[in-house]
Amino acid sequence: MNRYLMTPGPVPVSPEVSLAGARPLIAHRGGEYSELFLRVEGKLGRLLKSGGRTVIFPSSGTGALESLAANFTGPDIKALSVSCGVFGDRFREITALYGAEIVKLDVAPGEGVSPDSVASALAANQGCSVLLLTQNETSTGVFNHIDAIISALPRGQDRPLVLVDGVSSVGAMPCFPEEWGIDGLATASQKGLLTPPGLGLVWLSERGWRAISERKCQSYYFDLARQKKDLYKDVPENPYTPPVTLYYELDAALDAILTDGWFDLRRRAADALAAGLESLGFELFVKDAKFRSAGVTAFSHRDVPAISKALKRIGIDPAGGQGVLKGKIIRMSHYHDVRWPEISLVLGGLYSALGESRGASSDFMRAAFEKWEGD
Ligand SMILES: *Cc1c(COP(=O)(O)O)cnc(C)c1O
Repeated sequence: MNRYLMTPGPVPVSPEVSLAGARPLIAHRGGEYSELFLRVEGKLGRLLKSGGRTVIFPSSGTGALESLAANFTGPDIKALSVSCGVFGDRFREITALYGAEIVKLDVAPGEGVSPDSVASALAANQGCSVLLLTQNETSTGVFNHIDAIISALPRGQDRPLVLVDGVSSVGAMPCFPEEWGIDGLATASQKGLLTPPGLGLVWLSERGWRAISERKCQSYYFDLARQKKDLYKDVPENPYTPPVTLYYELDAALDAILTDGWFDLRRRAADALAAGLESLGFELFVKDAKFRSAGVTAFSHRDVPAISKALKRIGIDPAGGQGVLKGKIIRMSHYHDVRWPEISLVLGGLYSALGESRGASSDFMRAAFEKWEGD
């Protein structure tokens, strides 16, 4: 049976992306590779609205977060860590592992981070030189307004270095680090960037590059200064072997993402799905619409396991809750090119899953499905 993958990473990749990955390999030293590298860098620059280049590691998103922690923090650093879910907690945990003193600001699951709460926490905890934020908290479907949070921070020397987990936001929603004042941004290939898993990406501001040049990185592999040397050569390269196939795929995926109106389409898909879910009687997990993610939607029901099981049976693969939300919510991603046919598919599947969870035997979908399965 065909399966429709709706997990918030990995996401379905388009035929164009898969085909790009089928190209013969090239060596990663020399002109042909550099051309590919520069093309990808140019497209990432357009996506992030930045002239700066992006470091690309062969790693998942967690590797990109670890590189920020290893380069920016250490036992001499006090960091304010803002978390509204599992991934905010993870960024905090990695940073603590590198020895930083952590000041916690926790926001309840399903709620977004208010700019004032961050500014007050900083004022109440002098000496925090690093701020950890999550743009899109994938475990709850919360989208944080990073631009507004940064606008509320103190200016000049008092402003902490702003490190952002953009693993599940970049590609699916606006993320303009230079314009907003982010200093270190981490992301990955397999969510909003619509590429198979395997690339961890890190972008730094000029202030960010300066800050790390004054520190000794605590990791060999994730040393950003070492990456920078090769990244800014006329013929850029990587210090260690890059996954060239994934670069081909990212190159192709970026063409779709950079088409006009992509972010608006993602937003519309999220809003349409949310309206359908509410009208079917599901409860959206993020109550305040302005914090709802354009990439992933979480919702609850009194019998989540039954709904998940019924969806899986008809070939739709959503994700469940993580941590304390296990068994309490269902999450569906719409990073990929979800339009009306896909939305109807999902809402129709949920309608039938609701019927099944009530033990309804006359459900039209069930009749058709039983024929399909051969009674
Ligand atoms: C998926 C995700 C991560 C972890 O990424 P991996 O690629 O699984 O290592 C980190 N932060 C956020 C917000 C995520 O969605």
